[in-house]
Amino acid sequence: MEIERHRRKCQVCRHPQLDDIRRDFMASQAVYLLDKKYGLAQGSARRHAIAMGWFEERQQNSVATLDRFIADGMTKGKVNSVRVSGANILKALELKAKLTGELEESPKPKKLKAI
Ligand SMILES: [Zn+2]
Repeated sequence: MEIERHRRKCQVCRHPQLDDIRRDFMASQAVYLLDKKYGLAQGSARRHAIAMGWFEERQQNSVATLDRFIADGMTKGKVNSVRVSGANILKALELKAKLTGELEESPKPKKLKAI
């Protein structure tokens, strides 16, 4: 089976700091930096992340974080006691749409016609 083969050959799966590597990955640390930080062969963190579905999980976590930001920003006008502007909420909505595939490119701002 594919995953068993991965586990046998993967440095990350057998690494004593696997939990730390996972935590750093989920905190959006770049995979090439994880290779360096944990003494892994180049590309190891990326291969492990792909095999174990970490990229999808990180994306879902990001979307959930954006959902909370958007909800709190729209209902309370604040996120973690910090005032949130409408522009920040729109940027969060746009980023969420890109992450979920609902939006492929940044929408072009429309010029307002002078009346
Ligand atoms: Zn692995």
